[in-house]
Amino acid sequence: MKTKLKSLFNEKFNRPATAVYASAGRINLIGEHTDYNGGFVFPGAIDKAIMAAIDVNGSDKVRVFSVDINEYAEFGLNECDAPTQSWARYIFGVCRETIKRGGAVKGFDAVFAGNVPLGAGLSSSAALESCFAFAVNDLFNDNKIDRFELARIGQSTEHNYCGVNCGIMDQFASVMGRKGYLMRLDCRSMEFEYFPFNPVGYDLVLLDSVVKHELADSPYNKRRASCERVAARLGIDTLRDASMDALNAIKNDISAEDFIRAKFVIEEKDRVLAVCDALNAGDYDTVGRKMYETHIGLSKDYEVSCEELDFLNDIARECGVTGSRIMGGGFGGCTINLVKCDIRDKFVAEACKRFNDKYGHEPKVYPVVISDGAHREE
Ligand code: ADP
Ligand code: MG
Repeated sequence: MKTKLKSLFNEKFNRPATAVYASAGRINLIGEHTDYNGGFVFPGAIDKAIMAAIDVNGSDKVRVFSVDINEYAEFGLNECDAPTQSWARYIFGVCRETIKRGGAVKGFDAVFAGNVPLGAGLSSSAALESCFAFAVNDLFNDNKIDRFELARIGQSTEHNYCGVNCGIMDQFASVMGRKGYLMRLDCRSMEFEYFPFNPVGYDLVLLDSVVKHELADSPYNKRRASCERVAARLGIDTLRDASMDALNAIKNDISAEDFIRAKFVIEEKDRVLAVCDALNAGDYDTVGRKMYETHIGLSKDYEVSCEELDFLNDIARECGVTGSRIMGGGFGGCTINLVKCDIRDKFVAEACKRFNDKYGHEPKVYPVVISDGAHREE
């Protein structure tokens, strides 16, 4: 990809690129619906990335060519200069958010491409933002903006220029990721810690159901409201501070639905911590078991699964896959599977066949390896 981008840059702009940057998509091993409850998430960057060949151009204009969409955009750096193409707004937003924080941005030329599947739950948009946030920091700010702030620049870009009210996890993972490590992010304090993830003899494979059942935000908002009601009843800010004992003590004062939602959140917080301990001990069987528990919790208690994802989870279990669960908010998207290398191909083939027999199309298959986040390639 790097060689192709550099030669395309030459072709489009009649001079060589002076730098190449990249940033990754991400997975989240465990910790779902925990972010808005002040709990933990546990993401890592993956070996699928957005890469950009860049050179400053001495003007106050940004000129960018998207290889994958085969479009060109040109825009200035003032608030009124927002481009119309949605892909270019991610780059414009990163420039604007850098400037808003007192950083410098001048004109540059860029050619970029990527292999993070779009809209599959692997955060191609965060990869795009992080790639350019890192580039702008390196090219114009002597890398003075710290990495966590680069993630915030990406998050604010989604909020203010792309209409997506996201949390910090995706950009955090894309910017901070390290090969061979997952990161436990405390969504309350924003503290984070790296944990080794070197599952020798195992692969991580995502199966994308390519279905999305709920386009509206309402089920998500209803889950949030349940959590907030229970926290208020317990006299705490978020369910991060709740225990099962405390929840059981108020069981008769809250609705059965609120109870079961809160139960999932409390158990999920503990599962993330258990997975961290297991990884420190190199115990991937326990990691896998916890992933299945999360799936059951998301399906039966939090009720954000769907038939297709439960079906993929059942197949994983039947094939002897070590761990499998829904990844992301639910109602569609991917399952993430931790599977022994020697049964991986058989599992994937079986899942594709049985899913196709039942739903008329195969899931998309994405093998992933935990890799470095934002960096300069050369
Ligand atoms: P995801 O879950 O993958 O982040 P989003 O809808 O948030 O999905 O972001 C996808 C958008 O990001 C695309 O519609 C496009 O505007 C931009 N994008 C992602 N990858 C690329 C790419 N390789 N080339 C151009 N634009 C991209
Ligand atoms: Mg996105």
